Amino acid sequence: MSVTTTVERKHLTSAFIVNNQVDTAADLVGLDPAMRILLQTPFRTVAVQVPVRMDDGRLEVFRGYRIQHNGARGPCKGGVRFHPEANEEEVLGLATTMTWKTALLDIPFGGAKGGVQVDARNLSYRELEAVTRQFTRRIAIVLGPYRDIPAPDMNTNAQVMAWMLDEYSSKSGYTPGVVTGKPVSLGGSLGREEATGRGVMYVMQDYANDSGIPMKGGRVVIQGFGNVGANLARLLHEVGARVIAVSDVDGGIRNEEGLDIPALFSHAYLQRKPVAEFDKGEAISNTDLWSTPCDWLIPAALGSVISREKNAASVNCKVVVEAANSPVTPVGEKILEDRGITVLPDMLVNAGGVVVSYFEWTQNLQQHPWTLEHVNRGLHSRMQTAYRSVRQLVEARRVSWRTAALAIALERVAEAERLRGGW
Ligand code: NAD
Repeated sequence: MSVTTTVERKHLTSAFIVNNQVDTAADLVGLDPAMRILLQTPFRTVAVQVPVRMDDGRLEVFRGYRIQHNGARGPCKGGVRFHPEANEEEVLGLATTMTWKTALLDIPFGGAKGGVQVDARNLSYRELEAVTRQFTRRIAIVLGPYRDIPAPDMNTNAQVMAWMLDEYSSKSGYTPGVVTGKPVSLGGSLGREEATGRGVMYVMQDYANDSGIPMKGGRVVIQGFGNVGANLARLLHEVGARVIAVSDVDGGIRNEEGLDIPALFSHAYLQRKPVAEFDKGEAISNTDLWSTPCDWLIPAALGSVISREKNAASVNCKVVVEAANSPVTPVGEKILEDRGITVLPDMLVNAGGVVVSYFEWTQNLQQHPWTLEHVNRGLHSRMQTAYRSVRQLVEARRVSWRTAALAIALERVAEAERLRGGW
């Protein structure tokens, strides 16, 4: 019996969903029950108070977490998010996914995630710094370049990483390798900002070659126009794809002829204006976005946006590319599968960010910066190797891309556990 099924739950948490997907892959590779428990529970959970003096003089006490899911293959790696829903279950699910993502890409890291339960939109700049520094102090004991290496995630950015680096270094000496996603001037890597979008594009190019779904002239719809969605749109436009609809939190825009992506990138990503206010296209809602006929449908914003209840039966595309984390629910995925729509899974598709985080860490340890060309070549090679290994298993065992990706990752982590622990 799996760990998850023994726990009574009122709703499907992200940890529950990931572990159910792991069960399917564990059946495929014949993983024994004790190893399943080892791989479906976290190595270490740190829960801390984050007391902060607010600008108006009040004391606020936030809750913070750093969860190290598994470190058998190397130091734990994963982002830190500041969000009201960053509770223990949410952070655990994201930490678990990081273990499988780093293993699939064969990066020498384990999986972790951190979070502070706070609405970052309500924090002043000074309060944001205070939350970051206090959280870092409280979890510093489990961090380190050979122990656990945070990165940016929702509502955290390069500046937040700079504060984390400073706080950690004030006790331990200058340690750039303790965080990734830093400003380039503090040891960040060239190419890190666009790395996730670039990795998504590489996977799409390979899948286009294999499936015959066109890339040049192919119709693309993207939800989310932030770091991942906007950079991906720009890169796809450069290789000749036709991006016909995109949206952000305030709504979307559509143009059947193809949107003017360089102009939209400047308007919405660089100038931070709502996508729907872009004048060269028809304004649409986020609900309309999902029914837009296209070849490639790319959720690049939130989790659980494609589901039985919402749209799985009505989306009109040839393939769903999971650029966001967990955008398709398990039942939603089954409906898509039955309709002949392939889902390319998050742990493969959006791994470009953590790959270049690994390159950043390597550069920090070597104290030797890489050129952008070297970073992008390395990213392409790692994404392509992972893609090919998943495709091979999909063809050999007739399983979904997600199950194949998880099976590869599970075997790698289980082997490391066996060799290190002697289990
Ligand atoms: P971001 O904050 O830069 O951008 C998020 C985008 O989603 C914004 O355009 C925002 O307006 C939009 N959005 C938010 N709520 C929405 C809603 N209700 N409807 C439509 N659009 C909405 O975030 P990001 O870094 O681009 O991350 C996007 C997704 O990709 C997340 O799921 C994240 O976990 C995942 N991801 C990001 C990275 C990375 O390197 N940034 C790596 C792996 C996975």
